[in-house]
Amino acid sequence: MEQPSEAPIIQENVSLKAYNTFGIDAKARFFTEISSIQQYVTILKEGKFASIPHLFLGGGSNVLLTKDVQALVVKISLMGIEIVKEDEDHVWLKAGAGVIWDDFVQYSVQHNWSGIENLSLIPGTVGAAPMQNIGAYGVEIKDTFDYLEALNLSTLEIDHFDNADCLFGYRESFFKHAGKGQFLITSVCFRLNKKANPKTSYGAIQDLLNEKNILYPSIKDVAEAVISIRQSKLPNPKEIGNSGSFFKNPTLTQSEAKRLLNTFEGIPHYPIAESTDVKFPAGWFIEQAGWKGYRLGDAGVHSKQALVLVNYGQASGREIVQLSEKIKKSVLDKFGVNLETEVNII
Ligand SMILES: Cc1cc2nc3c(=O)[nH]c(=O)nc-3n(C[C@H](O)[C@H](O)[C@H](O)COP(=O)(O)OP(=O)(O)OC[C@H]3O[C@@H](n4cnc5c(N)ncnc54)[C@H](O)[C@@H]3O)c2cc1C
Repeated sequence: MEQPSEAPIIQENVSLKAYNTFGIDAKARFFTEISSIQQYVTILKEGKFASIPHLFLGGGSNVLLTKDVQALVVKISLMGIEIVKEDEDHVWLKAGAGVIWDDFVQYSVQHNWSGIENLSLIPGTVGAAPMQNIGAYGVEIKDTFDYLEALNLSTLEIDHFDNADCLFGYRESFFKHAGKGQFLITSVCFRLNKKANPKTSYGAIQDLLNEKNILYPSIKDVAEAVISIRQSKLPNPKEIGNSGSFFKNPTLTQSEAKRLLNTFEGIPHYPIAESTDVKFPAGWFIEQAGWKGYRLGDAGVHSKQALVLVNYGQASGREIVQLSEKIKKSVLDKFGVNLETEVNII
């Protein structure tokens, strides 16, 4: 991957409205965009910016800015896609952290390499994908993730993390916990399958394929089905500010799940592979608590998907957080279920 290394340009008091999909108009005290690792190392070696906090931004599709950011905001634009190696069955495809995630997915779909087609149209960048082990429609990146490279902010060396090192879980990774704030993810490599192996067990995908009479779907058929389902259900951040699912789907122990299912009839729930825990859709609780379509000022709950909080235009990050707290409290009061926030609140 090419590494241009012009001197980094650092701006002051920059509006981040165009850099976060919630469309929150917070300011960055300092702002820079890096297209090479060297540019960032140069910044770190300069006294002035080495001593203040830094905030990395990819596509800004999983952050909620609640105030001006008194930090150096670093927009990651490390680009490039390359084949690292291949054999008869697999191809190892690596992308720079700044590559748009969906561009990467569609690149693999065009080549008929399977493994990430169910993750079509998820906003954001390749570099942020491991942060919360992005997932959708029965697939998570951990299923095809091979390794990532990250700049260690203490040693300024590139560290290598394989799948086990990342401690992936449901919307979780090492980088949200012990590794938080210590690494800049610079590239990610996936092991994709050359022999089509589409995953269509997720109900909505199967229904759509049936509707189209597709018995043996190609990788492209699955990607198109996912794109069509997402477009019909989720608000487009270019039209209404949002960060996708605001909360995680709660996972409960069997005894907690039993209590809930005995008390409230008809709650949808799903078994979790390799665990006795049970997953419940957070959107169902929010909808049952009466929040779907709610709006106060410009902060609201989407009318088609209660899990998505939205900014109709001028809402502040604090107003969205206040709304999320009211939702959490009412779900706890009504169902005894504690909702955990998925979005990174800053
Ligand atoms: C409409 C919509 C639908 C969505 N659907 C899904 C979905 O189906 N499944 C899902 O899992 N998520 C979904 N998301 C959430 C979001 O798209 C993902 O979490 C995505 O991976 C975020 O990427 P980003 O580049 O925008 O990250 P950002 O929001 O820019 O950053 C997220 C976090 O990662 C850190 N970070 C970013 N880049 C780097 C880097 N290179 N190195 C170190 N730290 C970094 C940031 O500091 C921040 O803490 C959705 C969001 C929207 C708006």
